[in-house]
Amino acid sequence: TQPIHIIGGGMAGSEAAWQAAQLGVPVVLHEMRPHVATFAHQTEGLAELVCSNSFRSDDDESNAVGLLHWEMRQAGGLIMEMGDAHALPAGGALAVDRHAFSDAVTRRLSEHPLITIERGEIAGLPPEDWTSVIVATGPLTSPALAEAVLSLTGEDSLAFFDAIAPIVYAESVDLSKAWFQSRYDKGETEEDRTAYLNCPMDRAQYEAFIDALLAAEKTEFHDWERDTPYFEGCLPIEVMAERGRETLRWGPLKPVGLTNPHDPSVKPHAIVQLRRDNALGTLYNIVGFQTKMKYGAQTSVFQMIPGLENASFARLGGIHRNTFLNSPRLLDARMRLKARPSLRFAGQVTGVEGYVESAAMGLLAGRLAAAERLGREPDLPPRTTAIGALLHHITGGAEAATFQPMNVNFGLFPPLGEGPKGRRGKKDRARAYTERAKTDWNHWISAFGLGQMVSAG
Ligand code: FAD
Repeated sequence: TQPIHIIGGGMAGSEAAWQAAQLGVPVVLHEMRPHVATFAHQTEGLAELVCSNSFRSDDDESNAVGLLHWEMRQAGGLIMEMGDAHALPAGGALAVDRHAFSDAVTRRLSEHPLITIERGEIAGLPPEDWTSVIVATGPLTSPALAEAVLSLTGEDSLAFFDAIAPIVYAESVDLSKAWFQSRYDKGETEEDRTAYLNCPMDRAQYEAFIDALLAAEKTEFHDWERDTPYFEGCLPIEVMAERGRETLRWGPLKPVGLTNPHDPSVKPHAIVQLRRDNALGTLYNIVGFQTKMKYGAQTSVFQMIPGLENASFARLGGIHRNTFLNSPRLLDARMRLKARPSLRFAGQVTGVEGYVESAAMGLLAGRLAAAERLGREPDLPPRTTAIGALLHHITGGAEAATFQPMNVNFGLFPPLGEGPKGRRGKKDRARAYTERAKTDWNHWISAFGLGQMVSAG
């Protein structure tokens, strides 16, 4: 069998290599370190954790990340096995000894009879005779490869900067204050009607909000962040506020083209808009609110917005260097580049966010590539599972125009359907999502054919 070439030996590439090899397909894993460095990686180990050493919550009964852990364990995932083997005490979270973890992943992959590790940068499009490739080069994809992908997919297909606006669960917005309306009532369908949620501010609320933005604790910028040409295009909200107290009222908070149905006679001084973030309508992002405020500060400042007093956040805002594809537009349902289907993408470069999410997408890509090599076309994991929900989000569920990297969360799952809305508490709903996911994941895994797995050798 011809090998699968995997570019990048990080969280996603390592897991993809393991999965494909365990299914009996040879793999060549290309990792540019130590010959070419990134600004964040410190070692030459595979699956190096570049920042925190946490895989986040390990609660696999009512937490979406914990559920991802569980699904990967059920699928014989190497990242979870080595994470568990090198766990450190961390309460309900799974923290790992980063060096022991990376060493163990590197050793297991090096010792696998079907895996060859080649050190060196793939500095352009892979050769045409590599008929199955997984690109798992992560948020710090080398510029030469990023340029090559751009040449294949066109401008706007690849982002280099990640200006993340916070995302709110729609059900936590107070609709006695906020309302649905598109500016100047653009669009007529039901979908258009729910495209935007609006939160009005009077003058005192606006002034207090600006004060809080200016006073909030921020994360420092790195020099390379300020120096990038992409910076001006996605200014943090607090930097806009620093440029003048009225700047936001003339920018993302402009109070025009909208009428507050709760009080049509009063014209709001400013209006915060939230834009629908997924087709299900369960998630909304706050428009223009990318920020370097620390997480604790973000929650308290954003909850000052009328209608968001009790908002709960699927993710908070941020700004980072991050190379990622516009996956909803560019990838097919099996994570292959539509423009060149021999290239499959996995990990953070597909627009998921986090160590665990990246490894999970590597797991799926490795399995799909191996199945393809073996002449099989397995069903995709159902959307009711954590991995299926992430896959669906990046390959079509998310809005392409505003696509930003996403952590796993229950807002990505199809609603539970049964029972009157609001009857279940949050914890009960999380448990119900998890139970449904586990049943469906077990079915998917057994249908996939674990029988084909070879021993680790
Ligand atoms: P990576 O783990 O980065 O792996 C990609 C690999 O590809 C690297 O080893 C790289 O050397 C290699 N590579 C790149 N280009 C080429 C090429 N052309 N040829 C060959 N090899 C190449 N997530 C969290 O959950 N928690 C955190 O605390 C966290 N902190 C982060 C801090 C920073 C500074 C960054 C940039 C990201 C952080 N992330 C964090 C986000 C993300 O989850 C991790 O970056 C994660 O490692 C992504 O997995 P990956 O496999 O997609 O990419």
